Amino acid sequence: MARLILWGNAISPGIAIGPLRLKQSIRLLEKRRIVAEDVAKEEEALVRAAEQVRSALGAAVREVPETLQEYREIMLSQMELARDPKIIDSARARIRRRKICATWALNETMEELCNLFSGIEDPYLQDRAQDIKAICFRIADALTGASHEKDTENKSILASYELSPADVMELGPNGILGLLTVEGGPTSHTAILARGMRVPAIAGMTDLLAQAREGETVIVDALRGCALLAPDGDDLEKYQEFRENYLAFENQTKTSATLSSATKDGIELVVGANLENLSELGTLKKSGARGIGLYRTEYAYLGGALPDEKALVEEYSTVLAKTAPEKVIFRTLDVGADKLLLPNIIPNEPNPALGLRGIRFCLKYRDIFRTQLRAVLRASRNSNAALMLPMISGKAEIAETREIISSVKEELKAEGLAYAKDLPLGIMIETPSAVLASDILAGECDFFSIGTNDLVHYLLAIDRNNRHVAYLNEPLHPAIIRSLKTVIDAAHAKNITASVCGELASDPCGIVVLLGLGIDELSAAQRFVPAIKHILRKLDAGLCADLVNEILTLHDVAEVKKLLEAAMVNFLGPELPYHSSSFVLRKSHE
Ligand code: PEP
Ligand code: MG
Repeated sequence: MARLILWGNAISPGIAIGPLRLKQSIRLLEKRRIVAEDVAKEEEALVRAAEQVRSALGAAVREVPETLQEYREIMLSQMELARDPKIIDSARARIRRRKICATWALNETMEELCNLFSGIEDPYLQDRAQDIKAICFRIADALTGASHEKDTENKSILASYELSPADVMELGPNGILGLLTVEGGPTSHTAILARGMRVPAIAGMTDLLAQAREGETVIVDALRGCALLAPDGDDLEKYQEFRENYLAFENQTKTSATLSSATKDGIELVVGANLENLSELGTLKKSGARGIGLYRTEYAYLGGALPDEKALVEEYSTVLAKTAPEKVIFRTLDVGADKLLLPNIIPNEPNPALGLRGIRFCLKYRDIFRTQLRAVLRASRNSNAALMLPMISGKAEIAETREIISSVKEELKAEGLAYAKDLPLGIMIETPSAVLASDILAGECDFFSIGTNDLVHYLLAIDRNNRHVAYLNEPLHPAIIRSLKTVIDAAHAKNITASVCGELASDPCGIVVLLGLGIDELSAAQRFVPAIKHILRKLDAGLCADLVNEILTLHDVAEVKKLLEAAMVNFLGPELPYHSSSFVLRKSHE
């Protein structure tokens, strides 16, 4: 086969070279109707298969080395899914109701649950659907007797339609050189595992299965997000050397994760982590993050059910205990638009992105909001915590929230329950109105956190789901950079801090611009924290400020990119190829 480059999204950075192994990708679905007498037998077979998967995963968990705590927690959560009533009981009900075999019922249940999340732009929720799929496929394999033999003999690059953490586990940390998948995203558990095991991985490779050949050599470049199939001698030589240099660089970054982030001229930003759920807590301290700059609280509301106060208090207390003495910023429930978490409650809206989302939802559904506020206040009573409101568009929303918080505190006091008396209250800056009114809003809250993921879309008026305007997604657009300046300056004028917790905070170019604008804190997924701190140490805040002043005079995003690209060569020098920026650096080391 001729040399071919396929592009996708790098979900675990690194370079791997080795023979390709195709993992079973076409699962034959058994669709068999059954008679009433066989219903009990099919139900039993399903329960048995799920138990078999649980015990196989249990055995696998026991083999996980202590050093891979995160890995263990992911396996445990997969074990839980294997007995989740939303999967098992629904499939059993289908067997009874529709008189169909267990595999068919399981498949329908899986599709229904995954449909809940499909079409949702939020990669986090899409990836939870991947977890459900992975466990259902595995139970289906147990039902049909498909083998899951461990093969650690031959180290290979695994290519598949999708991979479950269990699939990865079967090969063991030593069996896989790299991963390539058609499906999956950066927050999938497989991606988390791959990063934990330092296995380079790329997802979203549309043509992979049509082009890949078993046994053929492949290069996985999970820095740029491409795979070279049938590479030539030159490619191999170049990439072998690049890989060694990258590994040395990565080791240096990791071992320096807990060092200060101070720039060359002594400016020290707080670098925190964005967390989605408890399973990520195990590695927080090692990542070098100073606390949690964004705790997304949506996970507990997945699947449409409302969590009770007790469960939330437990969750938040665990987060606080494991992060102490550093701070945890709890963002209140951010549903609506692309995060369609409570489909039974959220009304049908003509344009959900401009509808009842974030704080608007919470102010309408007060009971849900109050339950969450009670839980945060109770869990934070002796801890370093803060509360943050998403999608604020004006002063009245903050005032209304403050009133609700006061009333919740009165309630807790009357019940004799302990709670946090002075929880700082911050807001996310994600709407154009919040930018333009940032001087007003800064007087109403204790801190700003700029949600650049949403802000970019709202400022540039791009529908996230409309691929025809995806080309306009330019976080370095002059309008964005000016907005960031307006917000940061407004915060400082009122002596409050400004942070960024959107993707821009982990992009090398974004870091340069934000440092130059005088940002106080950055928060990003913990896998990015060591690299962010490393980059900060290489920068000079004064020079970045000069650069930003020049950028602010430019009229066009192409000019901004050109200037930044040249500056990045100076700032990062020979290590530039080891950093991937989604904006300007993608092909610069070809
Ligand atoms: C953002 O919008 O930048 C943000 C951090 O919030 P989320 O990605 O959860 O919408
Ligand atoms: Mg947001």
